[in-house]
Amino acid sequence: MNSNLRLGVLLTILISISAFSYFIFFRDTVSEQVAIENEIQTSTTISSTSTTLKTENTTSTSTSTSTSTTSTTTTTTTIPPNQTVIYATAQEINNSKKISYDYLKGGCKEDLIGDIEEEWVLPYELFIFNEEKINFSLKLDSSLSLNVECLGKLIPSILNDSRGWIKVTDKEFQLVDNSESEFEFIFASPEKTDELCFPLETNGIYSCRNEEQIVINYFRWINGAIDFGSDMETYRLYLINHEVGHILGWGHVGCPKEDALAPVMMQQSKSTMGCVPYGWPIYEIIEKEFGIDTYSLLPESEEDS
Ligand SMILES: [Zn+2]
Repeated sequence: MNSNLRLGVLLTILISISAFSYFIFFRDTVSEQVAIENEIQTSTTISSTSTTLKTENTTSTSTSTSTSTTSTTTTTTTIPPNQTVIYATAQEINNSKKISYDYLKGGCKEDLIGDIEEEWVLPYELFIFNEEKINFSLKLDSSLSLNVECLGKLIPSILNDSRGWIKVTDKEFQLVDNSESEFEFIFASPEKTDELCFPLETNGIYSCRNEEQIVINYFRWINGAIDFGSDMETYRLYLINHEVGHILGWGHVGCPKEDALAPVMMQQSKSTMGCVPYGWPIYEIIEKEFGIDTYSLLPESEEDS
C-alpha cells in the first residue's frame, strides 16, 4: 500500500506538472494568437490606410478633373463655336473701372487758370520716339477746362493696362512730341470736333477717328452717354479704347447677346443695344489669345465714327 500511495502521489505530481505545462503552453499560444491577431489588425490598418490614401488620391484626382472640366465648361460658355459672348458679374464690372492712374472719375477736369493765347495746349512730359513702341501725341483745345499733363498720363495708363490694347499689340504705348507721333489725340470743343472730323458727321455730340487723329468731343468726355448712366469711368475707358481700336484697324460690331458685355468696338455712345456698357477690348484680347477668328462672328454695325 505504501508503494501504491507513492505511485499515487507521483501520478498526482505528474498530472499537476503536465497540467501546469499545458497551462503555460496554452497561455503562450493565446498570447501568440493575440500577437498574430494584432499583426493582422495592424496589417489591416495599413491596408485600410493605403486604401484611404488611394481614396484620397482618387478624390484629389477627381477634384482636379472636375476643376479642369469646370474651366473647360467656362471656356466653352465664353466662346461658343458660332458666337463670341462674354458675361461679367457686378463685381467684375466694378473692378473694371479701376486703373493705375486714378483720374478716370474726375476726367482730368481743372478750373481754367487765366487766358491762354495759343489755340492748343501741349504736354511737357514726353518720351523720345521709340520704334519698338507705339508713339502717340496729344493736344488740348485751350478753351477746355482740362489738365493736359493729367490726360498725358491717363491715356497711356489705359492703353498699357493689362486689360488694354497692349495685350493685342504686344507693344507699349508712349506719349511723344506731335512731330514724331504715329497718331494724335485731340481733345476739342463740340464745334472744333465737327470741323476736325469732317467729312464724318459728329453733329456736335460724337467723337471720331479721322485718319491718324482721334478727336475726343469735350461734351462727351464731360457728360458721357445715355446707356452708361452716371458711370463716367466706364464711358471714358470706352471712348479712349474705341477710338484707338479704329487706329489699330478694328471696325464696328454690334451687341452679340442681351446682358453680355458690349464689345469696345460697338458704338456704345449711341446705344449698347441691350449689352452691358464696357470699356476694355476683352473680345479682341480673347481672339488674340486663343488664335481664333471669333471677332468676325460678332454682328456688324454701320461704319461711322
Ligand atoms: Zn467708331
